[in-house]
Amino acid sequence: MSVETQKETLGFQTEVKQLLHLMIHSLYSNKEIFLRELISNASDAVDKLRFEALSKPELLEGGAELKIRVSFDKDAKTVTLEDNGIGMSREEAITHLGTIAKSGTADFMKHLSGDQKKDSHLIGQFGVGFYSAFIVADKVDVFSRRAGDAASEGVHWSSKGEGEFEVATVEKAERGTRIVLHLKAAEDEFADGWRLRNIIKKYSDHIALPIELPKEVAAAEGEEQPAVEWETVNRASALWTRPRTEVKDEEYQEFYKHIAHDFENPLSWTHNKVEGKLEYTSLLYVPTRAPFDLYQREAPKGLKLYVQRVFVMDQAESFLPLYLRFIKGVVDSNDLSLNVSREILQKDPIIDSMKSALTKRVLDMLEKLAKNEPEQYKGFWKNFGQVMKEGPAEDFANKEKIAGLLRFASTHGDEGEQVVGLADYLARAKDGQDKIYYLTGETYAQVKNSPHLEVFRKKGIEVLLLTDRIDEWLMSYLSDFDGKTFVDVARGDLDLGNLDSEEDKKAAEEVAKSKEGLVERLKTALGDSVAEVRVSHRLTDSPAILAIGEQDLGLQMRQILEASGQKVPDSKPIFEFNPAHPLIEKLDAEQSDERFGDLSHILFDQAALAAGDSLKDPAAYVRRLNKLLVELSV
Ligand code: ADP
Repeated sequence: MSVETQKETLGFQTEVKQLLHLMIHSLYSNKEIFLRELISNASDAVDKLRFEALSKPELLEGGAELKIRVSFDKDAKTVTLEDNGIGMSREEAITHLGTIAKSGTADFMKHLSGDQKKDSHLIGQFGVGFYSAFIVADKVDVFSRRAGDAASEGVHWSSKGEGEFEVATVEKAERGTRIVLHLKAAEDEFADGWRLRNIIKKYSDHIALPIELPKEVAAAEGEEQPAVEWETVNRASALWTRPRTEVKDEEYQEFYKHIAHDFENPLSWTHNKVEGKLEYTSLLYVPTRAPFDLYQREAPKGLKLYVQRVFVMDQAESFLPLYLRFIKGVVDSNDLSLNVSREILQKDPIIDSMKSALTKRVLDMLEKLAKNEPEQYKGFWKNFGQVMKEGPAEDFANKEKIAGLLRFASTHGDEGEQVVGLADYLARAKDGQDKIYYLTGETYAQVKNSPHLEVFRKKGIEVLLLTDRIDEWLMSYLSDFDGKTFVDVARGDLDLGNLDSEEDKKAAEEVAKSKEGLVERLKTALGDSVAEVRVSHRLTDSPAILAIGEQDLGLQMRQILEASGQKVPDSKPIFEFNPAHPLIEKLDAEQSDERFGDLSHILFDQAALAAGDSLKDPAAYVRRLNKLLVELSV
């Protein structure tokens, strides 16, 4: 035992304690993954060393043959992993193995329910990494030395996973990290060559560097202990460099878990080798579930970048647009320089053309998924639909393609579920329909019963129902799809085009003419509250409705802007009334100007309420309504 100096005991960050507790209690059914997680970390550590050694070759002194060794001791009940990667300094061991650096961890922890079944899914989104050692071990010793540091600057980190850990400075002859797992009494089955070999083959075959296990050799005559011979048990070649036809689905899946730090299998992937002017290989995955920090600005995103098989950086963000930030994967380029930096990536024209090609690959993969696996696509949409809706604004060139991937609730859909694509919509459109109709609002319940839909219901025309916060904003970027214009049914003077017969139009004109007097009276009564008054052809059951001016901001956009403290230009609605409604007939016949005024204001306010808006003067509405009720009851 070497001398330990500067020994101190430190507490884990609260989130680490919670994570440890949760992990030990929820991952008991899949204990063997601890090895995958630790090997994955060791492989990352080797990648980092390889990269740093490009500019500082001396870092490789004392062993340029990079590898991971896994050994075990049946009697001592230990499993040991050793890598000769970048290693950790004392400070790094304290921060990396004592805290969780991910932003939003505290928020994530709040989502834990205490229900172990549910929480074990959440933990998958989070990734457990190093701490998974405590699933099988009741004590973990980590010995590490950062490449380039002196042998006397090694660190010994040790913990029983119960809230505290110890660190001490120790002598360590080789750079890299050795992790010793002291197995729990019930987990000693892992101190076994066959078991370890099988786990490595199952989960870590794709790891690009050799993973070695001691070979079972008989002791030579006269010796008590046989000499240890090591044997590589994994394939040890970068998975993405192999031809597609030779890689099994399970291998793609395990590779995904390694690079994405995810527990669940991916939903889909696309693996491509590009040759020609630019040469690169990409392997891109769609996760099954959204990460908990999908909407956090600082959340990690981007691909793992390799240059000629050498790992260069994590989270290279320049290869995909923001709205595809949930895509995980690897890109390996033959054209970039090994010392490429983030700043260079942002400006390099090579990256621009790779970005547009990779974006197309992802959109094609999603199109395929939507076409061939509609059920899976539904799941995708639930998880990532909101992010995809950012697409048309960000990626003008692919607007049409993205639009085809969008899914909406609709009057002909499944009770508010976002399952209707624009192609489905057009496929069942009415003969002669050359528009895509939609309505935006706060909630599905509200839009589904909106008076704006009355004429559509009567004619059996489908209307898309958009109730996500960003929908109105989204629609401001979508003007058409497949040559058909989008029409907000709450906006302007609704023109149903060919869907109205000549007779309908003629009749409507005649009615409008006959109601000119009423229109004038309403204009006087409603005064400043309205931009215009007109006879409606979109109503069958309701007496009146408020339409938004063609160029005005919709309610949703107005509310978003107001909530963010911006001044929103005042716009007045158009008051449309249904001449056939008994209340309107009564209104038309009303002799008293005072009663006419009260009733028209009530109708106006009711129309605002039905549109989901709030009243400017709710007290006045109540007063007027009560006045009428009193008159009614005498
Ligand atoms: P993650 O791998 O998701 O970052 P982990 O909890 O698995 O989270 O590991 C935390 C950090 O500890 C790693 O990011 C890395 O910096 C460090 N680490 C873990 N294992 C090793 C290792 N074998 N060699 C060097 N550093 C390591």
